[in-house]
Amino acid sequence: MSKQYTVRCKELLPSGNGLVIFNNSKFEVAGVLPGEKCTIELVYKKEGTGARLVEILEPSKDRVAVKCPVYDKCGGCNLQHMSYEAELKFKSDKVKKLYQDLNVTQLPIIKNENFEHYRNKIYASFSFEKRGRGEIRQIAGMYEENTRKVVNCSDCLIQNSVANSIIKTILDLMRLTGTRSYDPDTKTGVLRHAYIRVAEKTGKVMLVLVTGVPEFKDKSRFVQTLIKKHPCIETIVHNINPGKTGMILGNKENVIYGKGYIMDELCGCTFKISPKSFYQVNPRQTAKLYEAAVVLGDISSTDTVIDAYSGIGTISLIAAKKAGKVIGVEINPDAVRDAKENAEINSITNVEFLKGDAGEFLEKEAKTLNPDVIFMDPPRSGSDEKFLKAVCTAAPDRIVYISCNPETQVRDVKYLIENGYALKVIRPVDMFSRTGHVETVVLLTRVN
Ligand code: SAH
Repeated sequence: MSKQYTVRCKELLPSGNGLVIFNNSKFEVAGVLPGEKCTIELVYKKEGTGARLVEILEPSKDRVAVKCPVYDKCGGCNLQHMSYEAELKFKSDKVKKLYQDLNVTQLPIIKNENFEHYRNKIYASFSFEKRGRGEIRQIAGMYEENTRKVVNCSDCLIQNSVANSIIKTILDLMRLTGTRSYDPDTKTGVLRHAYIRVAEKTGKVMLVLVTGVPEFKDKSRFVQTLIKKHPCIETIVHNINPGKTGMILGNKENVIYGKGYIMDELCGCTFKISPKSFYQVNPRQTAKLYEAAVVLGDISSTDTVIDAYSGIGTISLIAAKKAGKVIGVEINPDAVRDAKENAEINSITNVEFLKGDAGEFLEKEAKTLNPDVIFMDPPRSGSDEKFLKAVCTAAPDRIVYISCNPETQVRDVKYLIENGYALKVIRPVDMFSRTGHVETVVLLTRVN
């Protein structure tokens, strides 16, 4: 047994893990709350020395009992040991701290009324465990934090419960048919991941079975059993991903049951969602986020609106109901195809979707478009200087910036402030309950 040390947690880091200072070194320790006295042990890894919680000696008043049996191992969430009220305060304070130099009005965080089983998009990875006497057991779950080691978990507390039960059926089928999980190191086995999307409104499910090899011998048996046991499954796609990459989906896919996509409803519009298109993980909170964003955009019927990083056109279509004209720009061709169809499905004609890099598009069109409002919702890495510079040239009256990573957002916001914009208001939204992640939407207005 390695040596244990008694320490006290100083504060929560932006990740939601505790900060512990020990021997003049800072350690990030999962599972501890500010003020708690605990024992830790040091963990030696390639990347350096870390620390692991052994025991809580003096619990915080914000501590709650953890219901997940694999919480210590799984990297899927890290705030189950904290009361939900304390989690909301942590997230609001984290945003406040990031924006403290910018003197902005921060509105209260939008709470998630259903903070359990809220994820409607789930990825399960398959692997295997060696048991005694050469026996092998197929397992499914999320990865251990910062590794590719699968933690067996069939009752995830943040994932949609129907999705959890579909994963269990897939594991039963693997056992029955002798289908093995794919091992990228030895390139043996078959099933690599299952990716599931549940439509919030209808409960219909899209299932993508990802294999590491093109052959999937028992495909028909999987399809027949799955649709019989889970009639909510509307479509099943077989995706092939032989690459040694961290990406879930490969390039090749075949629809093996249904139409290959699902439909969902959000903010009064209907949306078609294909497997490779982005769609938010928590649709209930997304509806509240979009409503807050559209209010901040203060769109009127003569306004020209740009929706940059538009995905399947969600914000564009919602904004189009109020605007004169909306232009959505998005780099993923599948998402652009969905967005165009979504405009048709909803009979919205004052919107146009373009495929391409948002920065390149706006650089070319900045002077001609004359937008009144720009919505921007880039990936976690944030936007880039090309886009931000073009935004300033296009000079809209209002910029509504939505982000799932306030750290990159504040960097981009500072650029906009240095180039003629004032930051008016920020609103955090709890989209990713039980994890340290927080969504934010901010409004910037042009100074002159
Ligand atoms: N606004 C959408 C999508 C947000 S996710 C929604 O709420 O659903 C971010 C989107 O940006 C993804 O669809 C991704 O494909 C797209 N994207 C990433 N880099 C881009 C770029 N350089 N130019 C345009 N779109 C990009």
